Amino acid sequence: MKGIGVSRGVCLGKALVYSEIPVKLNRPFKGKETEEADFEKARLEVLEKNQNLARKTKRGIGREEAAIFEAHCSILQDEEMIVPIRGEISLGASAVDAVEKVMNQYMELFAAMDSEYMKQRASDIQDIKMQLQRQMQGISLPDTGSLQEPTVLIGEDIPPSVTAGLDFRHIVGLVMEGGGKTSHTAILARTMELPAAVGVKGILENVKNGMRIALDGNSGEVFPEPEKKVTERFRKEIEKEKQERKRRAERANLPCVTKEGKRVQLFGNIGNVQDAQKALQYGAGGIGLFRSEFLYLTGEFLPTEEQQYQAYASVLRSMKEKPVIVRTLDIGGDKEVPALPMKKEQNPFLGNRAIRLCRKEKEVFKTQLRALLRASVYGELQIMFPMISSVEELRWAKGMAEECRRELEKEGKEVKEKIPMGMMIEIPSAAVMAETFAKEADFFSIGTNDLTQYTLAADRGNEEIADLYTYFHPAVLKLIQLAIEGAHKNGKPCGMCGEAAGDKKMIPILLGLGLDEFSVSPGGIGEVKEWIGRLSARECREIALEAIKAESAEKAEQLAEIFWEKQ
Ligand code: PEP
Ligand code: MG
Repeated sequence: MKGIGVSRGVCLGKALVYSEIPVKLNRPFKGKETEEADFEKARLEVLEKNQNLARKTKRGIGREEAAIFEAHCSILQDEEMIVPIRGEISLGASAVDAVEKVMNQYMELFAAMDSEYMKQRASDIQDIKMQLQRQMQGISLPDTGSLQEPTVLIGEDIPPSVTAGLDFRHIVGLVMEGGGKTSHTAILARTMELPAAVGVKGILENVKNGMRIALDGNSGEVFPEPEKKVTERFRKEIEKEKQERKRRAERANLPCVTKEGKRVQLFGNIGNVQDAQKALQYGAGGIGLFRSEFLYLTGEFLPTEEQQYQAYASVLRSMKEKPVIVRTLDIGGDKEVPALPMKKEQNPFLGNRAIRLCRKEKEVFKTQLRALLRASVYGELQIMFPMISSVEELRWAKGMAEECRRELEKEGKEVKEKIPMGMMIEIPSAAVMAETFAKEADFFSIGTNDLTQYTLAADRGNEEIADLYTYFHPAVLKLIQLAIEGAHKNGKPCGMCGEAAGDKKMIPILLGLGLDEFSVSPGGIGEVKEWIGRLSARECREIALEAIKAESAEKAEQLAEIFWEKQ
C-alpha cells in the first residue's frame, strides 16, 4: 500500500489500530426501554472504570491527581444530569443522542462562566460524554502503556490531543489514512524520528490489530504481513539507519557554514523538554521553535504558572547560552486542548486560533507570559507570537508581556532585562507588510506550514489536495522574500521554522534569499548541515530569484533539482 512518506526511516512492528471512529449521532431509536438500559449499562461501566482509576491514581500518584477521576465519578452519579438524559430518551431520542444533547447544554453553561474552575468542569463533562458515547458504541482507545513489542500505530489522522497522551516507548512508526505532509502528526513523527506515512488509502480497511507491518517513511510504502524477503531488506535498512544516526551525532559539534565560509544559524524545533536534549545531541545551535502548546494538550487541567515555569527553565538551563525561541500558545485549528473547550467552528484554521484565542483568554495568556518571564533568568529566552496578522495584535501581545513584567517586578520576582520579542510570519498579510512589522518585532520566523496553506487556500492536513499544497509555489517564495527583505531593511534577523527549512530542494532558494536561521526537527539537523556545507550563498542567489519568477511550483522545484545536480 502506498501513501506519502512524511518522516524518514523504516521500521518493522505489529499494528495497533487507533480508530477514533467518530461517535455516530442521529441514531435510530430502539425503544425507550432498550435505550434506557443501554445508557444505564454504559453509565455503570464508565463509572467503574473511573472509580478504579481514582483508586489507582490515589495510591500510585497522589490525592490531588485522583481528584479528576473523582470529579468524573460525581458527574456520572449526578441526578441533575441523569434525569434530563432519561427525559430525552422518553421523548424518543437514542441514548447516544440524549447524552449528546444534555451534556452539551451543561458544557456550554460551564464554558461560559468566568471562573477558571467552572471552565474546567466543562472539559470534565466533555470527557465523560465521549467516554459514555464510546462505551455505548463499542469504540475503544488503544492502551499504549502496556505495549511490549515494537508497534506501528495506525489511524485516520490522530489528533495532537491524543498523540500527546500516548506512551511512545514501543511505538516505532505511524501510518495515517488521512493527513498531509505538514499535519501535526507528521511534524510530531519527524520530531520523534519515527518513520511515518500519511494519506495511505485503505489502510484502516486492510489492517487489523496485531498484523505485522513493514513501513518505509521515505517512500510512503506500507507492507502488511510482509514476505520474508521484504522483512530481511527492512532489517538491513534499520541497521544502516542506526549507524547513520551515530555518525551524525559524532559530527554534531561541527559548525554550520556554507562553501564560502558564511556562518548560518541551524536550530532545532521542539515540542517538549526532552526534545531539547535531542536537539543538543544533534548539534542544534539553539531552539528556533518551542511549540509550547504541547504542554497544554494532554492534561485535564491547564498547566499552572509553576508547571510552565519549570518546563521553560529546564529547556533554558539545558541550552545554556544558546538562544531558545518559545512560541506562545498556538491552539485552535487542528490542535484542541481538552482543558479549554472551544466552540465548534466552520473553518477552524481561519478562526479563533493562537494569538486570537489568547486575546479572548487573557488570563491563560498572562499565566504563560509570567512563567516565561520568570524563567528568562536561566538562559537566552526569546518570545515569539504566532498567527500575527496585524500590527495591532503584535502591539497587544508585547503590551501584555510588559504588563506581566511590571506585575512580577512588583512582586519582587526577577526578570531578565532584555528579552527579544518576535513573531511568526505565517499569514500572507504579515509577509506582505513585513517591513512595517519589522519596526516593532525583534525577529521573524517564517512558518511555511501555515503560510503555504493560507497563500494557496489549500488545507495543510487534507491529502485530497496535497498536490496543491506546495511551498515551491512562486507566490509563497515571493512572500518569503518579502519577509526576509523586510526584516533586513530594519536590521532584524529572519529565520524559518516551517518544514520547508529542512527540505533539501528549498535550501538553495532560502540561502539565496538570505535566510539567517534554519530551524528543523532535531533528527534533520545533521543532514541540513551537510547540505548547507555543499552550497555557496552567493551562487544560490541566482537560482532563488529565478525560482520566484518561475511560472509554476513545478518549474521552481525543477530549477532547484537541476541546481543540485550541478553541485
Ligand atoms: C508553521 O506554520 O510553519 C509553523 C512552524 O507552525 P505550526 O506548524 O506549529 O503551525
Ligand atoms: Mg503555524
